[in-house]
Amino acid sequence: MLNESGCPQVEPGVGGAPLGWVGGATTRRKVHRCSYCSYTTMYTTGLKRHLLTHTGERPFMCPYCQYCTVTQYHLKRHIRVHEGKFQG
Ligand SMILES: [Zn+2]
Ligand SMILES: [Zn+2]
Repeated sequence: MLNESGCPQVEPGVGGAPLGWVGGATTRRKVHRCSYCSYTTMYTTGLKRHLLTHTGERPFMCPYCQYCTVTQYHLKRHIRVHEGKFQG
């Protein structure tokens, strides 16, 4: 791939609508930025989890690992992976 003059290389997105886009000369990658503080993350899920610290909601955390989600449904589905009942 040839670089067009003055056009920075942009990696393909992970998919989904970006919650925030920190544009600027110093940032190449898409970064999800918290609207409450200066927290930034590369992942949408990371931002969602972080936002809970501001909204006061308690996320559903996996007892086996650091997986964290905002819905019990997703947590239950995730725990199956550890219990060996479900792969993937
Ligand atoms: Zn924040
Ligand atoms: Zn887990």
